[in-house]
Amino acid sequence: MPKATTTAEDLLKKHWGYKKFRPLQKEAVTDLTEGRDTLVLMPTGGGKSLCFQLPALLREGTALVISPLISLMKDQVDSLNDMGIPATRIDSSLTPAEYGEARNGLRKGNIKLLYLSPEKVLSPGFPEIAGEINISLIAIDEAHCVSMWGHDFRQEYRKLKSLRKMFPGVPMGAFTATATLQVREDISKQLSLKKHGEYIGSFDRPNLTYRVIRRNKLETQLDEVLNRHKKESGIIYCISRKDTEKWAVKLAARGIRVKAYHAGLPDEKRKKVQENFIRDKIQVVTATIAFGMGIDKSNIRFVVHTGMPKSLENYQQETGRGGRDGLPCECVLFHSGQDLMLWRRILDNPPADNPAEQKLRAMASYCSSVACRHRALLDYFHEPNNMKECGACDVCLGELPTEPEALIISQKIISCVARVQERFGGEYIAQILTGSKQQRILENGHDALSTWGILEEHPKTEVRNWTEQLISGGYLERRGEFNVLGITPTGRLVLRGEETPLLIKAKKQTIKATKLELESWDGIDEELYIKLKEVRRSLADQSGLPAFMVFSDASLRDMARKKPASRDAFLNIHGVGEKKWEKYGEAFLNLFLDY
Ligand code: ADP
Ligand code: ZN
Repeated sequence: MPKATTTAEDLLKKHWGYKKFRPLQKEAVTDLTEGRDTLVLMPTGGGKSLCFQLPALLREGTALVISPLISLMKDQVDSLNDMGIPATRIDSSLTPAEYGEARNGLRKGNIKLLYLSPEKVLSPGFPEIAGEINISLIAIDEAHCVSMWGHDFRQEYRKLKSLRKMFPGVPMGAFTATATLQVREDISKQLSLKKHGEYIGSFDRPNLTYRVIRRNKLETQLDEVLNRHKKESGIIYCISRKDTEKWAVKLAARGIRVKAYHAGLPDEKRKKVQENFIRDKIQVVTATIAFGMGIDKSNIRFVVHTGMPKSLENYQQETGRGGRDGLPCECVLFHSGQDLMLWRRILDNPPADNPAEQKLRAMASYCSSVACRHRALLDYFHEPNNMKECGACDVCLGELPTEPEALIISQKIISCVARVQERFGGEYIAQILTGSKQQRILENGHDALSTWGILEEHPKTEVRNWTEQLISGGYLERRGEFNVLGITPTGRLVLRGEETPLLIKAKKQTIKATKLELESWDGIDEELYIKLKEVRRSLADQSGLPAFMVFSDASLRDMARKKPASRDAFLNIHGVGEKKWEKYGEAFLNLFLDY
């Protein structure tokens, strides 16, 4: 048991090897440690686990951690043990021997954290287990599962309320990455949380670089992304199962270690792909959205979407799997106008007021918009912010090929909308502007308009695209059942030349490095870094753990920068706690002494 004088900061350094708490961690840790309930909302990778793991060390007894995914429980227990924290789990996947061992450990009273599935907690055998331990706190992970308003409601989670009656004096913490106000209130109510702090972290992920690129020659485009991430882990999301298979074959032919993953594969096969990806035996997974739940791999360096996802919620969640270790991760979204139609077909053409259709539109508007991506995401999720230039998206990096004639082009498009009395849709407007002689145009006499053919030197798809950009920029809007285009008050300012929209050309963009990307390699001896990775690989194989669990990429880069040649220097590396030093220190030290 830690001495009364041991502080949270001491333990953070001793076990995790971190010098500072992330925002809101300290507050949540203090509440639980002092016996108060708490509700924590942080994005994936925000650092929620520490908020209950650390209080578990500071309080007497064993903490119960309820988590819905067995694979994640196993990873967390392995990772805690590797940090020198006694933890165990009880779930349906244990062998009788493992189960016996877990029970024995618990009886001895030195286990600090016990991970359980909700089914186990509610099973008839649970009171017996609970009777043998002194419960220090209860942590409910993925707490949004208690709410019917959430996207992942689970019946068993509702029943967790009974824990409150069983252990009335024990503090409870609820943790989730996805929760609207409604879900938040529901969590407090369903779990009967007592008067508690609510800690809501920012959902911005500054280390993710967002790029949105029009899809043309996808094969070449993917090549370019992969070339920027040689030997680094990444996920390529596809809309259809067929596409995941197709790209896996194509990329494998280029010598990339890649496998496809989708819900149509047998369970065994899926498990194997996931496991091999986590253990770096596979570099890239081409996947449908079925992939990712239950993956805690921290060193994912790129996430590609080969088509537009069906909502920004999906996009945020899928890209959120990248860069958990805080190092940069590139998120590239390739899209084309066809994606919207494809989704509508898949979703059976939802009517305009259907939430699925509204989400699709918000997603499409994000794709054609030329505003800061980080900001657009925060705005969509209603997070107040005053972000101007994030420095980590294609827009803010100035990568988009902007159209110098934007004002004139916009005026031509908007005045064409005015000429047809705001009674036609985007496709028709583009036809007029590019001088089409389609029957409908001739019948309406629109070939006689002054705006007919005034953009004929541009392809229709480009004009169509600019129109979309004017819509997402708020200069034009879709109205009524037939999506006719109307002019907004800001659109009128453009006609008067008082405001200039930003338009981008359908030209290839030049990729630039972000500040964080440059800094993350600053002062690093790359040759040494590769050697360090090899050492980590062999240590990982020896202990049967995934490499990123032995040391994160962030720790390795810190080592490659500081070349620690003594115990003290080594303990000063980001993410190196005492146990890690004991277990792995020597292997690295020898390398640095050689250097
Ligand atoms: P979440 O459960 O919120 O998705 P995790 O608890 O898995 O996030 O944490 C994500 C990563 O951030 C982990 O690798 C974790 O070790 C790291 N981390 C957590 N807290 C800190 C901290 N204070 N300083 C540095 N890294 C941290
Ligand atoms: Zn930006």
